[in-house]
Amino acid sequence: MIEAEELSLEAEQFQARQLSSVETLRHSTAHLMASAIDVLFPGTKFAIGPHVEHGFYYDMDLPTPLTEADLPRIEEKMREIAKGNHKFERSAMSREDAKKWAADNGQIYKAELIDGFTTPDVSFYKHAGFVDMCAGPHVNYSSKIKHFKLTTIAGAYWRGDEKNAMLTRVYGLAFESKEELEAHLKLLEEAARRDHRRLGKDLELFSITQEYGGGLVTWLPNGAFIRKQIEDFWREQHLANGYEILFTPHVAPLTLWDRSGHNSHYRDSMFAPMEVEGQPHQLKPMNCPFHIGVYKNRQKSYRDLPIRYAELGTVYRYERSGALHGLMRVRGFTQDDAHIFCTRDQLEQEISGCIDFAQLMYSTFGFPDYKVELSVRDPKNKGKYLGSDADWELAESSLTKVLDGRKIPYKRMEGEAAFYGPKIDVKVVDAIGRVWQLTTIQLDFNLPERFDLHYIGADNAQHRPFMVHRALLGSLERFFGILIEHYAGDFPLWLAPVQAKVLPISEKFLAYGEEVVKQLKAKGLRAKLDTSDEKLGYKIRKAELEKVCYQLVVGGKEADSGTVGVRRRHQGDLGALSIDDLAVQMLDEVAKRSHV
Ligand SMILES: [Zn+2]
Ligand SMILES: [Zn+2]
Repeated sequence: MIEAEELSLEAEQFQARQLSSVETLRHSTAHLMASAIDVLFPGTKFAIGPHVEHGFYYDMDLPTPLTEADLPRIEEKMREIAKGNHKFERSAMSREDAKKWAADNGQIYKAELIDGFTTPDVSFYKHAGFVDMCAGPHVNYSSKIKHFKLTTIAGAYWRGDEKNAMLTRVYGLAFESKEELEAHLKLLEEAARRDHRRLGKDLELFSITQEYGGGLVTWLPNGAFIRKQIEDFWREQHLANGYEILFTPHVAPLTLWDRSGHNSHYRDSMFAPMEVEGQPHQLKPMNCPFHIGVYKNRQKSYRDLPIRYAELGTVYRYERSGALHGLMRVRGFTQDDAHIFCTRDQLEQEISGCIDFAQLMYSTFGFPDYKVELSVRDPKNKGKYLGSDADWELAESSLTKVLDGRKIPYKRMEGEAAFYGPKIDVKVVDAIGRVWQLTTIQLDFNLPERFDLHYIGADNAQHRPFMVHRALLGSLERFFGILIEHYAGDFPLWLAPVQAKVLPISEKFLAYGEEVVKQLKAKGLRAKLDTSDEKLGYKIRKAELEKVCYQLVVGGKEADSGTVGVRRRHQGDLGALSIDDLAVQMLDEVAKRSHV
């Protein structure tokens, strides 16, 4: 999350730049916060305070530790200063004078920044007696800043480097209107309610602990069951769509990664190698070289193509501990990976198949909206890409034709293609409007060359196949995190580990409750009996908290008539049903993979 992005924000803040009006407002709010902190915590050393999406942050070195309890006080001071209607006044100094200013004021981080400057002058902005080194722009008067809120405090290493001092980062929101701020706060509240880390704990879905390693996910029985359901569906659909399913090792000699190029291009994202009988081995960061190995296992002819290899392949990638985030950013994850090898004539059809497949996934998991990006070459700099012009043109036109043919709106991103091929990325929109990158369909002109892949054509000569890397869901870990938040933990019936919980109104009806469970299980449904001696109201609340879809109340009336009193999650009482009728209804819902 920090790192490169951070450094570019830093560079940006001290160079002449263009900001939109809302960006200017957000960045100015960072100054306003700094001025308030300077009054409340004299001696604070300021680092950088850029605008970010929805708001801003400022990294600071405070004389006393800050807690979230301090935020209201800082906010109050900010409002007081803002109302004073102070002008943001610009001034400039030579670099030498700026260094002196930094030294006189103990601003060691600003001094370090000045050392990196190349311009002769350094600009400063002052409002309400607070001076900050900055390139601007800002709002003219502090009273323009009205709709803001400080949200969180985090630690951030100076310049994103763990060897440097840990600074305090305060994040805030700023908007141009009260309505926008309120809508955003509401979205944050809703996002917190859906936070997969909290739901993961409450519903016992997964665990990530320091003892078992940061960024390494243990799937608890409930989460593991849901994953099994997703995997079963995934495998079934891959077999139906002409894919062959592979299993490949998690480790390979480092020499394989030299050949693939990962050891030189991808080293920073890989775990350190390990020694096996004196030979360095590498945990795999990608599955591609293995699928290539499967392709090369036997000579291929044009009659064998297209070949579609799919694997739920677990890979390991190094991420800084500060960048890890629940299931969304981890160090070990299972990609729903596939590699397609085909002839040039088959390429468009294969890409088309990938898009169909991706759409099936989105509709199955309940994502009606998605956004597509097409990354192509920089037309002004064709030299920096691998592969022939003709191949690139065919690849780009195939990707474009498939999207145009289906009237799928997309953003064409010139210059965003990898050096080895163009790609399509798809981001889905979740239940509260957030977008998540899921699918990638990526052409590759590099690996077939490096591994000297070929097939024998109808002309009896050797030809290079086209290679497509493709993931539909991205990784199971991240996709699960997205699903938890998308459903707010209310998993649809086909995924739910427990589909029905039988709640006897008293101990007397335990035996009938057991009978109901037995009959539902016999029909292939996942039912469980609440055997506690709690009151019915308590049992219902507990089942709601566990987000069980069907809660089946059983007492004397039900036992006599062979029925159950059906309650549905979030809906309440739906009346009595015979066990058979209920089973038919539930099985229909499961078969349709309905995502209510
Ligand atoms: Zn500024
Ligand atoms: Zn790949």
